[in-house]
Amino acid sequence: MPDRDVIGEPGQGWRVAMATAENERGLTLRSPGRFLAAADRLLDLWRAEGSPAWARDRVADALIGARAYQLFTYAGASRALEGEPMGPESSLNKVFWSEYDIALHETALDLLGAEGESAHGDWAEGYVFSLAGPIYAGTNEIQRDIIAERLLGLPKGRR
Ligand SMILES: Cc1cc2nc3c(=O)[nH]c(=O)nc-3n(C[C@H](O)[C@H](O)[C@H](O)COP(=O)(O)OP(=O)(O)OC[C@H]3O[C@@H](n4cnc5c(N)ncnc54)[C@H](O)[C@@H]3O)c2cc1C
Repeated sequence: MPDRDVIGEPGQGWRVAMATAENERGLTLRSPGRFLAAADRLLDLWRAEGSPAWARDRVADALIGARAYQLFTYAGASRALEGEPMGPESSLNKVFWSEYDIALHETALDLLGAEGESAHGDWAEGYVFSLAGPIYAGTNEIQRDIIAERLLGLPKGRR
């Protein structure tokens, strides 16, 4: 590696790698617009299915979650503009968006019933992809380790 290509100081590679992963998890991987649009589509679907009362809270959770995610992302972007690192808070974000995505798609499939099983349906396809969310970008088990140790200050588990 030529000296001119070194990022930061030699010996700081782990820190650079972790900062890269934190930015991916916390800011750049899933855009808030995607979830806001999906929550709107879910609302339309709920209405088209006759606004069933059993799904009302779940649809409301999807709308509130999309907005909360948007605001959390604004906060992260604002911190980045101030030159602050994402930090372990990005793990909270990652657990949130990956579990949110699954819940939103499950609600849509429950609204669609048997029709939702159609292999070519957008919702079914989105659901299958959402199942990968807790795995990629660092599994949610790992994120929970980070939250426990670095945010909550809990003792390290046995390695
Ligand atoms: C759709 C998709 C896209 C992907 N895209 C990319 C990409 O663009 N770039 C890239 O580099 N990789 C990518 N990956 C790979 C992904 O990052 C890894 O699959 C993921 O980090 C998990 O690593 P692993 O599969 O080696 O599982 P392992 O690390 O072997 O983990 C296996 C299981 O053990 C658990 N586990 C492991 N260690 C601990 C621990 N310390 N505490 C608690 N539980 C633990 C894990 O949570 C998991 O359930 C992608 C994966 C998927 C599914």
